[in-house]
Amino acid sequence: MTDLPARRLLLVHAHPDDESINNGATMARYAAEGALVTLVTCTLGEEGEVIPADLAHLAADRDDRLGAHRVGELAAAMKELGVTDHRFLGGPGRFRDSGMMGVEQNRRPGAFWNTDVDDAAPHLVEVIREVRPQVLVTYDPNGGYGHPDHIQAHRVAMRAAELAAEPDYRPDLGEPHTVAKTYWNRVPRSVAEAGFARLRAAGASFPGIADVADVPGVVEDDRITAEIDGAAHAEAKAAAMRAHVTQIAVDGPFFALSNDLGQPLFSVEYYELVDGESGAPAGEREHDLFAGVDAR
Ligand SMILES: [Zn+2]
Repeated sequence: MTDLPARRLLLVHAHPDDESINNGATMARYAAEGALVTLVTCTLGEEGEVIPADLAHLAADRDDRLGAHRVGELAAAMKELGVTDHRFLGGPGRFRDSGMMGVEQNRRPGAFWNTDVDDAAPHLVEVIREVRPQVLVTYDPNGGYGHPDHIQAHRVAMRAAELAAEPDYRPDLGEPHTVAKTYWNRVPRSVAEAGFARLRAAGASFPGIADVADVPGVVEDDRITAEIDGAAHAEAKAAAMRAHVTQIAVDGPFFALSNDLGQPLFSVEYYELVDGESGAPAGEREHDLFAGVDAR
């Protein structure tokens, strides 16, 4: 393709809502700057719990219509972020939400967790070779917090990036492409702790308060290699999170998932570069995920 924007960012996530929580400000920033922002979501989030009582019937243990509903929530969220290229791995409903670790749904045929990485990865190889991203963002090997679909999204993203670069691998899926930089989603421990201190002081409207250990991707501060200040896009991020009506309740700079436990909503987003060259001077954090990238 010759008409691709110069800068191209690919994000791989497990369920609708993960992208807005983790990367909403980053996605809004790069979309506003004219970069191609491509989101690949691996499942429809069919096993999620539902917050609003009037939508509770959608849940998997009742009507089992949550997946289709969350397709609409994701579309609304992407509108808020200005992101037009969002897709589901292998098409909507190809891989099903596996539920939390240890539940019977993990082993269901078609569950994402129950899918061989090398069966899922080609679907992403095709996307990588089509949109040719310089930057890939996904989770760490523990999926940030141990959810099977997040772990699997990490495995599929890392494997697909490797395969996409292989000239001999599936030429029918497009010309080989090497991703220049790969990042994992992170939150510095000091930032998480400060966020919870603000929440305890402010006292949001949620019945309880979560813990630093509940925040995916928390690591010691020195592991952070990039920070994206999304203050200009904080409103868009909050609006995108609110669009995930069944999953997220937002209250000012705080939010809660279905467990009703408040946590801080971060408008600065943090990353750890795990493959590729940092564009920042030694020892400093990058402030642009494309720093040092030759954008052609
Ligand atoms: Zn998720």
